[in-house]
Amino acid sequence: MNRDCMDEKAIESILNDLKSEDTPYERVLSSMCTYPHPIAVKACTQFIGTNLGDPGLFAGTAEIEREVVRMMGALFNNPDAHGYITTGGTESNIQAMHAIRNACKNTAPNIIVPESAHFSFDKLGDLLGLDVRKADLDSDLKVDLGSVESLINKDTVGIVGIAGTTEFGQIDPIRELSELAMSKGVFLHVDAAFGGFVIPFLPKAHGHVSEFEFDFAIPGVTSLASDPHKMGFSVIPSGGLLFRDHSYLSRLSVDTPYLTVTSQQTLTGTRSGASAAAAYAVFKYLGRAGYEKIVGRCMELTRELVARAREFNIKPLIDPVMNVVALDVPDADLARSELKKRGWIVSTTREPRALRLVVMPHLTRENMLMFTDDLGEVVKNG
Ligand code: PLP
Repeated sequence: MNRDCMDEKAIESILNDLKSEDTPYERVLSSMCTYPHPIAVKACTQFIGTNLGDPGLFAGTAEIEREVVRMMGALFNNPDAHGYITTGGTESNIQAMHAIRNACKNTAPNIIVPESAHFSFDKLGDLLGLDVRKADLDSDLKVDLGSVESLINKDTVGIVGIAGTTEFGQIDPIRELSELAMSKGVFLHVDAAFGGFVIPFLPKAHGHVSEFEFDFAIPGVTSLASDPHKMGFSVIPSGGLLFRDHSYLSRLSVDTPYLTVTSQQTLTGTRSGASAAAAYAVFKYLGRAGYEKIVGRCMELTRELVARAREFNIKPLIDPVMNVVALDVPDADLARSELKKRGWIVSTTREPRALRLVVMPHLTRENMLMFTDDLGEVVKNG
């Protein structure tokens, strides 16, 4: 800390300079986050000083969080879901597995996750002392059910399905995983950190609702993670963790004798009510119709991007299921660095290695067209 104080203008000027070093989202095709909706920013500012870690002091904010959980429960087909607003998918996955581990008596517990699982599962394996066993993917880059089944043993406490994989945007066969989980008597956690605010709003290919099943409508699903700070248009940090009923959450309870409540089930102690308020505001403001419009536009751009890539003879590893695309280019790392020289931030997948693109709401059609032109040239010259 400097010894001398600075005046407001000087601080503002330094902050502005440093902010200008950040990459604006417009040319970013690697991130699953985007600009938050203005109404979320407004609510965030209003609730910035609130602490949901001590909810007795913030009765109104606590009610907002309960309403956000109710809204997410309704979206994911379980109005009775219990949970809380986390800092994101990582914390949600940690706490889901934490509850599952606590529910079981095994001394050397393991969980089965798809090879495509987010690296948060590596973190939580380490933290929770869980052996994280990785199941192979099939040719569609969904988890292979035979591989999952072969990894289950007497110490398996839970299995995980991904609804919207980070690298491929694929949806695992959650109904089949649910049948397997129920037949083996283990928990099933669905990581819909990204897909939770995409899948329910996908254009209706077959009838009235989205054709993909992934949530509590499937009986074996015991918990689900979905992040308002990704396609939910809320502020960072806001994640959502939902359990089928209260019994799971209570397994995370610790006594909090000197607070306004007697127990806490959350990972962090002090936690921002601004996250809940922002999610509340944007959910209420956009409603289903608003999200359908945003997701519909992202999907249109994704399809157009893939069609243009095909004109350059670049094919996707799978036809896009959501607004995440993995393109099969001869040298993905080289293409990534060449695109960076042209001002585009993209990423690569692990296995199979491909160029990974996320078509977030901040990508304009004009930029998508410029990007695909650059991509075509980069691949031709590579
Ligand atoms: N799960 C999935 C499927 C994700 O795609 C991500 C992040 O991209 C996470 C979990 C982790 O989310 P966070 O970075 O918000 O902790």
